[in-house]
Amino acid sequence: MDTGTNMDTGKPPENIKNYTLEALHGWFSAKGEKPFRARQVFQWLYHHRIADWSQATNLSKELRATLSMHFHLGGLALDSRLTSRDGSLKFAFRLDDGAVIETVLMPNRTQYTVCVSTQVGCAMGCVFCATAAMGLMRNLSAGEIVQQVVEVARHLPPEKEVRNIVFMGMGEPLHNYDNLMDALNILQEDTGFCLSARRLTVSTSGLVPAILRYARDGVRANLAVSLNGVTDEMRAALMPINRRWNIEAVLDACRQLTSENRYRITFEYVLLKDVTDGLDNARKLVRLLHGFKCKVNLIPYNPHPGSAFQAPSMEHAREFQRVLLNKGLLTTLRISKGQDIQAACGQLVTGGAFAGKIPAREGMEPEERASG
Ligand code: SAH
Ligand code: SF4
Repeated sequence: MDTGTNMDTGKPPENIKNYTLEALHGWFSAKGEKPFRARQVFQWLYHHRIADWSQATNLSKELRATLSMHFHLGGLALDSRLTSRDGSLKFAFRLDDGAVIETVLMPNRTQYTVCVSTQVGCAMGCVFCATAAMGLMRNLSAGEIVQQVVEVARHLPPEKEVRNIVFMGMGEPLHNYDNLMDALNILQEDTGFCLSARRLTVSTSGLVPAILRYARDGVRANLAVSLNGVTDEMRAALMPINRRWNIEAVLDACRQLTSENRYRITFEYVLLKDVTDGLDNARKLVRLLHGFKCKVNLIPYNPHPGSAFQAPSMEHAREFQRVLLNKGLLTTLRISKGQDIQAACGQLVTGGAFAGKIPAREGMEPEERASG
């Protein structure tokens, strides 16, 4: 990382990855430079993924010097990298203030999906999630979110590209709304990763005002909502946020989103043995989601140390899925990647509290697609 001092202002250089293309245009214009420089710089940052300003060879030496005085490239220090037997990679990155976040790179047949973190820890306290135990330490900046993708893209095999990004790592993305929006904006730029809305999925625990804002803003990214329970009693026992915004409030907000944006929303539902996985709950779920243009993503519980929950058997999970499918609900059963390295949903945690490894359940295929 470049750490020179900005001679104009005396301030340390800023992270350029916090800048959207529009903001960078503005910066160049204010400097009396041609705005098209912003596009060139974006190409260097996200297409070539330079690690040092000297690599941006089509910019003049003077401009590079100016840029390095004002901006650093926001590189993240790699703390560790674990490889799962299913090919997933879990990266731990150390941020400037010493905090550590995790990012997962998952191969899926021919394409790669990156699961990024949006916060250090999480404030939501869901009882089945390892991240919850950390509490919320802080939000990630847009640059720190985007840089996770830049860093892991460097570990892809030649000719391969990142095809999907899921905001399902540590943290509640909608609790860090503004930075998330800038990160989405940057990832969509055609001079950069050029990821279309359908390749980006934000997962939320159900922050109702933020879902409504997401609808109003017409955000171009899929939304997945973690339902995880079919009655308020069940959901509140698992997700404290349900005491603030209950199932009805969440579903009302989702209705608004789908009516304003006419796209298919996803509901996530964690299968906890003998807690959420009863077949009567599957039937209740069908009733709750009646009239929605939606998809359901069933996630069998991923175990982590210190948690007493259990995952249902795969046979039972499939049976749960079948109830939904038979009622015409598009339903996928997620077979989590990277369980053996604690890289699956809800297993991400840093700080050493849960450093132990858990063996993955056997006999699982990569994501099992239901109905076509
Ligand atoms: N905070 C966001 C996104 C991160 S969690 C959210 O809660 O939606 C991503 C998904 O993993 C959520 O659907 C969450 O319910 C699920 N999850 C959390 N802990 C889990 C665990 N131990 N096993 C399986 N899924 C889990
Ligand atoms: Fe936070 Fe999501 Fe984990 Fe709940 S499930 S504690 S919202 S990361």
